[in-house]
Amino acid sequence: MDAAHMGADLEKVLITEDEIRARLQELAAEIWAEYDGKDLLLVGVLKGAVMVMADLSRALPGTAPMDWMAVSSYGSGTKSSGVVRILKDLDTDITGKHVLIVEDIVDSGLTLSWIKSNLESRNPASVEICTLLRKPEAAKVEIDVKWVGFDIPNEFVVGYGLDYAEQYRNLRDVGTLAPHVYS
Ligand code: 5GP
Ligand code: MG
Ligand code: MG
Repeated sequence: MDAAHMGADLEKVLITEDEIRARLQELAAEIWAEYDGKDLLLVGVLKGAVMVMADLSRALPGTAPMDWMAVSSYGSGTKSSGVVRILKDLDTDITGKHVLIVEDIVDSGLTLSWIKSNLESRNPASVEICTLLRKPEAAKVEIDVKWVGFDIPNEFVVGYGLDYAEQYRNLRDVGTLAPHVYS
């Protein structure tokens, strides 16, 4: 879905499809320089990271397996609490593997830091994180995100995998919603 199909639901486009593609190309080159020759496993966090995984993995100049996790984080209202439940675990034994977590967005960082320590407890060779988007809040927690696509303002965004009530994931760009959508 293009921004034009959003009609009045879209407030503004923050990052275009073309900007995302170009940035993922850069990140893919950096990531490959780090992992070439190593036993790399890409781990996507469902469902938000689906688009990032699809485009980042295809921008890599070599092959790497991918696996998926789904988690739910319990929180009061819209803030995540860091209390996480695994809805779908990896199919892969990650012992000795170089794991790269592929994420859509780091907001508080609580969900991701839980996932990272959970994976670290399974004796992988390494665990690093690549996220398309990062919000300012993320700076407040101690989470080392090695690759960041874009730092964005503290606004709720949709598109490119990110949803509001499961809608708008299929918007090609990343943007904000008009206030009437929330009411
Ligand atoms: P954290 O634990 O970092 O606060 O929360 C991360 C999760 O919250 C993301 O994986 C995503 O599902 C959701 N999230 C955080 N910020 C946004 C946002 O601006 N838009 C959308 N659609 N989801 C967000
Ligand atoms: Mg996510
Ligand atoms: Mg969501």
